[in-house]
Amino acid sequence: MSTPMLTEKYSGAPTRLAKEAARARDYIVSNRTLPTSSPQTNGLRLPPDVSLETFETAIKELQNILGEANVEVNDKPLKDGWYLDHPNTHDTFHVIPQSSLVASAIIYPSTVPEVQSIVCWANKYLLPLYPISLGRNLGYGGAAPRVPGGVVVDLGRRMHSIFNIDAENASCVVEPGVTYFRLYEEIQARKLPLWIDTADLGGGSLLGNALDRGVGYTPYGDHFANHCGMEVVLPDGSLLRTGMGAMPGPEGKDNPTWQSFQHAYGPAVDGIFSQSNLGIVTKMGFHLMPALNENEHQSYVFTFPRDGDFEQIVDIIRPLAQKRILGNIPQIRHVIQELAVTGRGKETFHEGKRPMTDDEIHEAAKKTPLGDCSWVFYGCQYGSPESIKQQLEIVKDAFFKVEGSKFFLPENVPPGHYLHDRARVCSGVPVLRELDWVNWVPNGAHMGFSPIAPTLGPSARLIHDLIRAAHIKYGFDLFPTLCVAGREMHYITNIVFDRSDVAMKERAVAMMREMIATCAKHGFGEYRTHLLFMDQVARTYSWGDQALMRFNETIKDALDPNGILSPGRNGIWPKRWRGKGWELGTRREGERSV
Ligand code: ADP
Repeated sequence: MSTPMLTEKYSGAPTRLAKEAARARDYIVSNRTLPTSSPQTNGLRLPPDVSLETFETAIKELQNILGEANVEVNDKPLKDGWYLDHPNTHDTFHVIPQSSLVASAIIYPSTVPEVQSIVCWANKYLLPLYPISLGRNLGYGGAAPRVPGGVVVDLGRRMHSIFNIDAENASCVVEPGVTYFRLYEEIQARKLPLWIDTADLGGGSLLGNALDRGVGYTPYGDHFANHCGMEVVLPDGSLLRTGMGAMPGPEGKDNPTWQSFQHAYGPAVDGIFSQSNLGIVTKMGFHLMPALNENEHQSYVFTFPRDGDFEQIVDIIRPLAQKRILGNIPQIRHVIQELAVTGRGKETFHEGKRPMTDDEIHEAAKKTPLGDCSWVFYGCQYGSPESIKQQLEIVKDAFFKVEGSKFFLPENVPPGHYLHDRARVCSGVPVLRELDWVNWVPNGAHMGFSPIAPTLGPSARLIHDLIRAAHIKYGFDLFPTLCVAGREMHYITNIVFDRSDVAMKERAVAMMREMIATCAKHGFGEYRTHLLFMDQVARTYSWGDQALMRFNETIKDALDPNGILSPGRNGIWPKRWRGKGWELGTRREGERSV
């Protein structure tokens, strides 16, 4: 497994992280027992209802348009690689057999007209396309197409230009393959007074993460809310610009306010291209944050001793967040994460495979820099030094009401502690650290379960108890991280599993299905999910006898009558595919297996 650097590859890590990248890779390699490469169980997986002959004709035709090297048939063994390799053939964190959700071909356009030609080609041969930007959507399906044998359109490999970083408007326009690492390094190299907002891992793309409505941790952390203007190839091959980009600028130039005003005029259509299958986004604008000085942001941690403090913590956060005293969207993490994020395997702390008990977690936590506790709050304040001091006084006053709570600044913990990485992320510096906890088990991988709950103590307790009960029943350690805003919380729990352990993977899938159903009964719906669960989750949003689904299907059928674009993504199936058993986990008759 390689550690590509940004100097040699658009998707690599910056040189400043060379050592860390090598260390992360070595951990993963040493923790791996699976072969690095495995033949596909049934050879080449053709797109559904497409004969080999038609497929071969179609591939030759596209090779003539894009060049032979830019249309790859995926008949080779599959390699999971690791984060920096970012395989584009399947889900590198496969929770079902590796060969199940797999591409038939991967294609690499380099221009918008090429993307338009690909769409026309797919309409001609009725081939299901699956566009990705980087395909690093770890925990939610990676690069895998929702339909086995789908054709992956890897936009990032040849479309990764940064078109415009505007220091005055504090914005940028990027193509799909621009990662947080690249944009950050470019801004540093040009000494521009701007911050980016990065996801937990810096190798994701701005575009892919925002489209899947991912989050970051500066005041600009809502990635989709901070986008401004898109360019989209529609399923019929036509091209659309949203926002002010819909109005031509003077002398054939782009409109000068394209990256200034998101909504422009008429219905806000941008939203229908996020978490959907209605267009291929080829450019996207983003607002950037004016850079702050070193002494104008302050990361910190509070720890809380008892599990039962949870409700009180959440009730304290709510008014602080509503009044915007908290500077960003903070995280509450369970103390077990302090063990996992060291990157050392579970065996370091505990013998045997069963989940650690509370007593065992507390015993192990005693030896960590923050000491024994139950919950850890990671926050950051922004402003002038005097203002930060005042903000911290208010925040401390509030949290010290929890008996036994403690406060830490970065200088109070050793250099390798996670708080230093949080401090980087909260000041817009992309890192690689968040990967370390998959080493909890051999061949480690993870899948995210991410429901939304109100920011209220009783709701926090209820959702935590429901999820904890499921983890106990199915035998998994529970790793909750809550991103808490003033009115809602994202309860994100990463189910960590061993890719070589078939029984464990089956348990992980069964647990996901159960948690989705149980949480939905209480009104807690997932904000984003792994490919396998999209049908089930979409159908939990069932108010008005599936009114939302009918609306989505109506739009899908109007824009994509041949059903060629990401069929099934987010549970939305085009007419041609509906009711033919493709929906997974909805307990209907005749469900096809993947
Ligand atoms: P990342 O860049 O974080 O690795 P991905 O490229 O995996 O993210 O994108 C996440 C998901 O968003 C993909 O699975 C795909 O469904 C959708 N997506 C990504 N890029 C595009 C795009 N340019 N146009 C349309 N959908 C996209």
